[in-house]
Amino acid sequence: MKRGTEKGEISYKCWNIRDYSKNKHRKVDDYPYGGGAGMVMTVDPIVSCYNHIKEAVFKKPKVIYLTPKGEKFTNEMAVELSKEDDLVLLCGHYEGIDQRAIDMIVDKEVSIGDYVLTGGELPALVLIDSISRHVKGVLGDDDSLDEESFSDGLLEYPHYTRPAEYEGLKVPEVLLSGNHKHINEYRKTESLKLTLERRPDILDISKLSKEDIKILEK
Ligand code: SAM
Repeated sequence: MKRGTEKGEISYKCWNIRDYSKNKHRKVDDYPYGGGAGMVMTVDPIVSCYNHIKEAVFKKPKVIYLTPKGEKFTNEMAVELSKEDDLVLLCGHYEGIDQRAIDMIVDKEVSIGDYVLTGGELPALVLIDSISRHVKGVLGDDDSLDEESFSDGLLEYPHYTRPAEYEGLKVPEVLLSGNHKHINEYRKTESLKLTLERRPDILDISKLSKEDIKILEK
């Protein structure tokens, strides 16, 4: 992200919603209508902050609200979002934000997983990191994106580096062979096996070749 910022490929800025509170104590939360535990972030400071940002970027940015109720964040979503010029990542706190703020300004609700955190800041950082990797010039070697887990619908194969043997554990012979056809076959087989074992839910049989299916049947 540092490299991407220095090269001018990406930039980011934080806005503190408290700065847009009209309350003398900079309060941004209130009790929930209907009762219940916890506080709710009020609508006005969020909308005022958004209007300020909109003026700064001169057009309507895509607004994402981080929430456990949102669509689960995926690599595919990161690739799609990396094509946007401007993204606003709205972070909730307490019980969340007043529904009217969501109805007024939010384009998409995104969750980073089925667990609850205290605020949206960590989820926002997860999105920033993951989306930035798909912006050209951010990674040192852009090609490294192509073979990573999820890029081709599979988990990535295992990696090895020197030494060739460590405490009796040897690097698979094929990786030392210099035969790239065999190395590619080995890696594809490992990827398929790992995906079937750990994440059968992401394995899309219709996208596999006859050779891939033969490997899985073994
Ligand atoms: N009451 C909410 C619920 O049950 O869905 C949870 C609120 S949570 C304590 C406070 C804030 O943390 C949320 O508004 C959201 O911005 C953020 N957050 C928590 N877990 C998250 C997750 N899994 N994905 C994205 N954002 C999350």
